[in-house]
Amino acid sequence: MKGVSGSLRVAIIGAGISGLACAIELERHGITPDIFEQRHRVGELFTHSAVFLQIMSRPIKDPVNELRKDYGIIVEPLNKLKKIIMHAPNVTGAVTGNMGYLVHLGQATKSVACQFLAQIKSPVHYNTKAEYAALAREYDYVIVATGNNQVAKILGCWQDVYTPWVMGATVQGSFDPCAMQMWLNTEYAKTGYAYLTPFNHKSATMALVVTGATRETIGDYWKRFWQVEKFDYQVNNIWDLQHNSGSVYPHQVGNILFAGNAGGFVEPTLGFALLAGIKSGVIAARAIVKGKSYEELLEKLKKTNRLTLPIRKSLNRAQNKDYDHLIALLIAPVIKQLTYNTNIDSLKIVASLLNIYDRYLGAAPKKIESGDRRNDP
Ligand SMILES: Cc1cc2nc3c(=O)[nH]c(=O)nc-3n(C[C@H](O)[C@H](O)[C@H](O)COP(=O)(O)OP(=O)(O)OC[C@H]3O[C@@H](n4cnc5c(N)ncnc54)[C@H](O)[C@@H]3O)c2cc1C
Repeated sequence: MKGVSGSLRVAIIGAGISGLACAIELERHGITPDIFEQRHRVGELFTHSAVFLQIMSRPIKDPVNELRKDYGIIVEPLNKLKKIIMHAPNVTGAVTGNMGYLVHLGQATKSVACQFLAQIKSPVHYNTKAEYAALAREYDYVIVATGNNQVAKILGCWQDVYTPWVMGATVQGSFDPCAMQMWLNTEYAKTGYAYLTPFNHKSATMALVVTGATRETIGDYWKRFWQVEKFDYQVNNIWDLQHNSGSVYPHQVGNILFAGNAGGFVEPTLGFALLAGIKSGVIAARAIVKGKSYEELLEKLKKTNRLTLPIRKSLNRAQNKDYDHLIALLIAPVIKQLTYNTNIDSLKIVASLLNIYDRYLGAAPKKIESGDRRNDP
């Protein structure tokens, strides 16, 4: 390894949000990485809107400010997220406040990946499927930001946590551009969920995340979802994919560092991964530049996944009556006040309570098995 950061040779596999965030930070320190992207341009294959959920950034309130101030990453969101409307089979309720932001994902110029691309000068080698082992021999460091678990699996660092199948579409209708909707109903989502995130007044992403579904079965759940909820939106561009959420340990093997989805930075409850993916890319760059332990620098990020794992475990056992209770609880005035109008880390509190409850029932293992399974305390 060379001593001067400017002379370090770094390869990044994947020009997704985590790989590009890593490149932005490396460039800030005078390193020009080589970025390899198997597609002909950056951004996910299908256009969709997603959310930066403020609750995932506690105790910091504003995720866009946090990214700018603490990580030097600038994101131009589509809109502020001011309202979340939650539907269980027999209960519907809404929470309002500064809930986070809606962002554009995909290949359009507004998308987060295209925004990041505009912030770097490093070359992106398009149409190049990179091979991590060959790059590890050639470069000082390799950042695996492939959005999938293949390399972590080969190196024995991956453990599956939640692997639902997702079907989604762009829908046309009339929407509040600052409001997201969520549905919990075992009839069509099993222990997954469905959501609608608007791009603007007329267009939105509708997605269904089904636990245990496959490419063969997801279409039937999608049909059922539309029948039960009686939607009459016009549908464009239907897509489907498997969403992998897993834990990775260690996050660095020799000169190979895992970032984004490839590093297991997908929160297991609802699959939120943007904030952690971006942060892990920046942290990987900082670990390289400063010669620090990546694993240690990641500690705060790993904690969120550890915290939310008990929530996913509880949801995995949920029935429709539990969803009715859950939504009724989430919209109760005291909870609303504490969760959405203060800076309290409510995720942490809920997760701790669920963990205690699970232990009481004897259903949960004594130690939360997320993130690290070897030396991590
Ligand atoms: C439907 C859906 C909705 C989501 N909604 C939200 C949300 O609302 N909020 C949230 O926080 N998160 C959300 N997420 C999660 C989040 O969008 C993704 O997890 C995140 O964008 C992943 O970023 P990444 O950089 O790890 O991977 P990606 O963005 O997938 O980028 C990986 C890149 O690596 C490239 N690549 C892979 N292998 C190679 C190779 N061998 N050589 C060269 N290139 C390679 C790929 O082509 C790709 O461009 C959602 C995800 C999905 C699928």
